[in-house]
Amino acid sequence: MIRRRGPLTCIELVELVTDYFEGALSRRDRRRFKRHIAGCDGCTAYVEQMRVTMRLLGHLREDSLPPVARDALLHAFRDWKAATG
Ligand SMILES: [Zn+2]
Repeated sequence: MIRRRGPLTCIELVELVTDYFEGALSRRDRRRFKRHIAGCDGCTAYVEQMRVTMRLLGHLREDSLPPVARDALLHAFRDWKAATG
């Protein structure tokens, strides 16, 4: 569920990243997306990783991200959050 107001959370950003690369975000969501990246090293790294992956694949659909990788990523974010307080 994407909230309509306030800053994106890391989890929301992960959910939006495919739309971001496909240019499917609204202008407002795109702005929130970029604003989050600007202040979040974890998501900056994630988006860069996705950019490389997309370049390799040539395209990306929602179902092309393996569930295992997605789970691992979310766990990584949780650990990172815990580590940074
Ligand atoms: Zn983040």
